[in-house]
Amino acid sequence: MAEPATIDGNDVLIVIDVQNDFCPGGALAVPHGDEVVPIINRLAARFRNVVLTQDWHPRKHFSFASTHPGKAPFEAIAAAYGTQVLWPDHCVQATPGADFHEGLQIPHAGLVLRKGMAPTVDSYSAFYENDRVTPTGLAGYLRCRGLSRVFLAGLAFDFCVRYSAEDARREGFHVFVVEDACRGLDVEGSIAATRASFAALGVASIKALAAA
Ligand SMILES: [Zn+2]
Repeated sequence: MAEPATIDGNDVLIVIDVQNDFCPGGALAVPHGDEVVPIINRLAARFRNVVLTQDWHPRKHFSFASTHPGKAPFEAIAAAYGTQVLWPDHCVQATPGADFHEGLQIPHAGLVLRKGMAPTVDSYSAFYENDRVTPTGLAGYLRCRGLSRVFLAGLAFDFCVRYSAEDARREGFHVFVVEDACRGLDVEGSIAATRASFAALGVASIKALAAA
């Protein structure tokens, strides 16, 4: 898909998980994750419609390695809904690690969508939990507001941004990932796999500076 010439009222920017635990110094730091903050601030100023997502886990969440005796972070286990990568404890509800990065300045954001609250199911995507069937309600919100083009930025490119982009396509939205406004973890080739998936699904990769 060609890059959009302009941003208009049918467009929405979804900012994925720009939280302290995903930034350097946090519990599950994405390398250079904080570099996206000024880029996203400038990008968001061009959008009338902005949604922020926030990973928001209860203590002892299923996705935490510490919940599974003998398991270490970044090992994978079999869950009822498929393979689950185990993570360090992160973004625990109402802790400083779950707060947005203090530099994130998007006062006009209309919705803060929290995800990952179910104790036994992870939620990378802003649209569905990792069982891929339990919706967060975001698709309904976007459709109800008449928003048809979804722009994605944030952390991490190869997990929560990836799953959100894939689900947005599945829901019939036009999807653009602003790749220079994302940073990735790259677990066992996950960045290359993300790019291949985007190409196969018709998710457009664009640059913040070009998406004027
Ligand atoms: Zn999480």
